[in-house]
Amino acid sequence: MNHTITRLAGDGIGPEVVREACKVLEAAARRFGRSLGFQDALIGGIAIDATKTALPDETIRLCQAADAVLLGAVGGPKWDDPHAAVRPEQGLLGIRKALGLFANLRPVRVHPALAAASPLKAELVAGVDLLVVRELTGGLYFGERGRRKDPSGEAAFDTMIYSTGEIERIARRAAEAARGRSGRLTSVDKANVLESSRLWRATVTRVVTEEYPDVNLDHLLVDAASMFLIQKPGRFDVMVTENMFGDILTDEASVLAGSMGLLPSASLGEGTLGLYEPIHGSAPDIAGKEIANPIGTILSAAMMCRYSLGWPEAADAIEAAVDHVIAEGARTADLVDPGQTPISTCEMGDRIAAAVLE
Ligand code: NAD
Repeated sequence: MNHTITRLAGDGIGPEVVREACKVLEAAARRFGRSLGFQDALIGGIAIDATKTALPDETIRLCQAADAVLLGAVGGPKWDDPHAAVRPEQGLLGIRKALGLFANLRPVRVHPALAAASPLKAELVAGVDLLVVRELTGGLYFGERGRRKDPSGEAAFDTMIYSTGEIERIARRAAEAARGRSGRLTSVDKANVLESSRLWRATVTRVVTEEYPDVNLDHLLVDAASMFLIQKPGRFDVMVTENMFGDILTDEASVLAGSMGLLPSASLGEGTLGLYEPIHGSAPDIAGKEIANPIGTILSAAMMCRYSLGWPEAADAIEAAVDHVIAEGARTADLVDPGQTPISTCEMGDRIAAAVLE
């Protein structure tokens, strides 16, 4: 079986971590007898330099024609002027829109050997294994906004708007994910205050009750959810929430694991085409030094195998290989204990690829 993967390495450490993820995917292809074709395309700052746009049409075309897209990161000081007409993040928002990606999946798993790396007490984070499903294309970030005159000077507004259709499709994605795990789903909203949250709660309840009676659903207000995430993170399995709440809660949840460099994500639409990327940015402070942790991108590649390539055995093998090298003590600079010698980005990739082949 052949798979075509479009690579958007992007800026900063993007090319370093994407290179290692592809090395690991190649190892999986060797082990399981599949063949992978990679095609490279531009996004972000590097695309602005080459084409004056953060998302060239050719990039969209290559992504639409692929089975899956693997992204590094975009941005950096060179393109950071907030007043610039063309900015690297436009590439990210643009590609999500062009591919119709409305669901962002962010797993957070605390490896037992890394529990001490978390800023929370090790006994609190031990065993944490949760998945946040964030709605990605609706809500406050996409509603009508503007400014108007006000007796005090000026007023500004943003609109949080959700339709039943938008809520139904993300509820289904989350319920499917919960079914593949322990069957527990927590929907997070602010239904005591917001009308959009009342529609959210009623719609999620209807979809899950009617279509996924085997899924055990509960609801939490977003303020309580943010508290439980640091007080009792082990209570969560799958969490589903709207765009802005998800933006904030996923960053909070990412801290549990100890390093941003460890965490993957997937952005999915109606079909199987998905975009896979680590949750971190382009880390310009360490770019080019070969010290970045590639595990977030490697685990994103594992998610790609599971959700876009219909290749769960490769996903399992990659995740097991990551667990194996962490258990053996392999650590990049972001994870080392005092006195321990870190390994390079490339060496981490080599060790995980070798473990996939074992
Ligand atoms: P960042 O995630 O790039 O870095 C934050 C800190 O974490 C830095 O100290 C960095 O060295 C460290 N870090 C990040 N990834 C790491 C890894 N894999 N291994 C080891 N250490 C790692 O966030 P930032 O510094 O706020 O942003 C830098 C640039 O990235 C900005 O231009 C920002 O706009 C952009 N950004 C892009 C994305 C994306 O492409 N999805 C996301 C966030 C930020």
